[in-house]
Amino acid sequence: MAVTLICPNLKCRTILQVPDKARGKKVRCGKCGRNFIVPDPTQQRAAAPGSETASPAGK
Ligand SMILES: [Zn+2]
Repeated sequence: MAVTLICPNLKCRTILQVPDKARGKKVRCGKCGRNFIVPDPTQQRAAAPGSETASPAGK
């Protein structure tokens, strides 16, 4: 399993794939060299695009 994420560097925005176990750890973008932490959606639901839990308030 790999986690796909986008480099937070707005001038780079390279799509990166890191191992599943890299969640919550610091990784480095191979293109711009920026260090950042891989978000862990299993521990905290924040800044996760495509909110699956968004329940429509209707019905
Ligand atoms: Zn980058």
